[in-house]
Amino acid sequence: MENLKAKARSRRKLVEDLHRKSHFEIHEVELLLKLHQRNADTPGKSDKPKIDRQKFADILYEEFKLTDDVLNDRIFRAFDVDADGYLSEEEWVLGLSTFLKGSIEEKLKYTFKVYDQNADGFISREEMFQFLKNSIITQQTEEDPDEGIKELIEVILKLADCDHDSKLSLKDYEQTILEENLLLELLGPCLPLPKYTNKFLSSIGCDVTPLV
Ligand code: CA
Ligand code: CA
Repeated sequence: MENLKAKARSRRKLVEDLHRKSHFEIHEVELLLKLHQRNADTPGKSDKPKIDRQKFADILYEEFKLTDDVLNDRIFRAFDVDADGYLSEEEWVLGLSTFLKGSIEEKLKYTFKVYDQNADGFISREEMFQFLKNSIITQQTEEDPDEGIKELIEVILKLADCDHDSKLSLKDYEQTILEENLLLELLGPCLPLPKYTNKFLSSIGCDVTPLV
């Protein structure tokens, strides 16, 4: 009995914590935790429920129509803050808070993390090249199909590399995106379209703002 009470108490604390740290209401946090539970594996009885990479990729694919394996893996890593290869309840709710309801500042920090593949704090030419090559279909007939991508990288650097060191720092990136929100996903889709966000939220019983 005491045990159950303690469990309920720590559960309530978790829900309140996540509510405070996220854009979700208390009842929405509870709904998201239920969804986490449904999708989680609990390998041993003492383990906390966790969502694995494949399950998360399925959710991105089915719920948000994000179909790019390379980017979906990067999205997983952006959610997986402690890099243990699983999404805990906290990582799930806080990740979704930015993903579904984040401010532009939160979203740009998130997309930066997605694109900064080696997590060194910069988006390098090579990283840009990889993402653009992955998301842009080049003409096979062209003599050098990579030429167009290289040109595009130079355009991006000209636009965003404010301190001219040939790579994008978070500061460069921030400055550029805040000026032009449309560039937020410039290296490939890693956020859901509003219609899928609303569909997802209402399907689990959360409040949604109608799209105008
Ligand atoms: Ca984790
Ligand atoms: Ca990097």
